[in-house]
Parts: sequence; structure tokens; C-alpha cells
Amino acid sequence: MTEAVPPRGVPLVVQPGIRRIVAPNPGPMTYHGTNTWLVDWAGGTVAIDPGSEDERHLAAILREAAGRLTHILVTHTHRDHLDGAQTLARRSGARTAGYRISGDASFAPAIRLDDGESIGGLTTLYTPGHAMDHLCFAHPQGILFSGDHVMGWSTSVVPPPPHGDLDLFIASLQRVRDRGDRLMLSAHGAAIDDPAGLVAALLEHRFAREASIAGTLDAAARSLETLLARAYVSLKPELLGAARANLLSHLIRLERHGRAVHTEAGWSLPP
Ligand SMILES: [Zn+2]
Repeated sequence: MTEAVPPRGVPLVVQPGIRRIVAPNPGPMTYHGTNTWLVDWAGGTVAIDPGSEDERHLAAILREAAGRLTHILVTHTHRDHLDGAQTLARRSGARTAGYRISGDASFAPAIRLDDGESIGGLTTLYTPGHAMDHLCFAHPQGILFSGDHVMGWSTSVVPPPPHGDLDLFIASLQRVRDRGDRLMLSAHGAAIDDPAGLVAALLEHRFAREASIAGTLDAAARSLETLLARAYVSLKPELLGAARANLLSHLIRLERHGRAVHTEAGWSLPP
């Protein structure tokens, strides 16, 4: 799914009470930039993923929240989601909230969340995989704020343990697919108006990818770099790191399921 470059620093209204402000941090891993979601509830307004530490972006959030900001929710602690959180909390008086075990040693959320909790009119869903501290936030009107778990522009990078986990990621995808939400609003890219269809396609893509990676293995032990070249032909250099992480996650999953063997010499098919 592609989207025209959205304006930054201004609210883009999805429906009354829900608007998006795009942070000025575009890149190969962030698309047009991080979506900061402002969501009104009975007690005020929450900001989901404050995005980058950028003066204009933070000023736009504060202006749009108009003194009613109650919580700053972090879907996970990757820098493009987290960076503005502390400054925004200091300036607004709102409390930060994120998964109870932070993946970033420099960030401890003021409110530590677990699965199935209520905060700011939303309900938390613990969705580990892309990050081990990833939360989605469910809005009562059939809308899921999906962070980097399901995105509107690309598949998610799933790093190998301890930072991510492909088996958990797949289980987390199946969980959100089966919820029946009518809309997903992710941290990068446009709104997703067929969540179940997109998640089904993402799962299919993962399983196809897994089959092709399994197909690169043979009886001899191969290095990760050899398998990378076999699995990902004509890859842009800026995406190499992400591809390597995804590949290793797939190999670890194949090994767990008895379909690959790992020794010091590399990866091979089981004997
Ligand atoms: Zn992320």
C-alpha cells in the first residue's frame, strides 16, 4: 500500500476524536515518518507514539491536545516511537505508559501496562514479536492502534531473540486478525480499512517467505551471509540489516520446528 506524502505538523482527522500527526522522520524503515495518534476520551486526550524528538512535531501535538493530554502511550520502545515521550510528558504533565517490561534501559514508563488493561478509554493487547514490549491499543469503536505490529505500508521487521520473536509475532498476528476490527491505524502509513484481509495476506507472505528460506538450506552448513544472498536477491543496501534480522528469525523458527539445524559451521537441513 502506498500513500502520497502527507503534510506534517498538522492534524489529519480520521474521524471525530481521532487524528494523526506525522512526525518529520521519514526513512527506509519509517516510510513518511511515525504517525502520532491523538485520541479523545472522556478524561481528555491520549497521544499514541509521540514519535521523534522534534520541536515542531511536539509543538503540534501540544497545540492539538489543547491542554487536555492525559497519557502518552508507547506501543514499543523503538526510538522512532519513543524519542519524544519524556519531553512531551515534562511539558504537558501527562503520564507515560508502556509495556511493564521496557525494552529500552533509558525509559521506564510511569504506568506499566500488561495485556487487557484499560487506559485512556483504550484497552491494551500485548502483541510481542516485532518487539518484545509491543502493545496494541483497542478503541471501543472497532479500531485497533497497531503500532509496528501491523503496518499500512510494509511488512514488519521481526528481529531474532532476545529483541523479537517470529513464533510470537505470528501468534500475535493471528490474535489481531481474529478480533474483527473495522479499522487499523498503524504507526507508519495510511489507515488499514480491511484489517482481517491485510493480516491474512501478511501471514501468507510470512509462510511463503519461510518456505523460500527453507528452500535455501541443504545438507552442507551454510553461513548466514550465504543464505542471505540466496534468499534475498537484488536487495537495496539500506534494507540489508532488516533482511538479515528477518532471515535469522526464520532460521531460528525453522530450527525450533525441527526443519533446520544450526552448528558453529552454519545452517543446514536436518540429517
Ligand atoms: Zn518498531
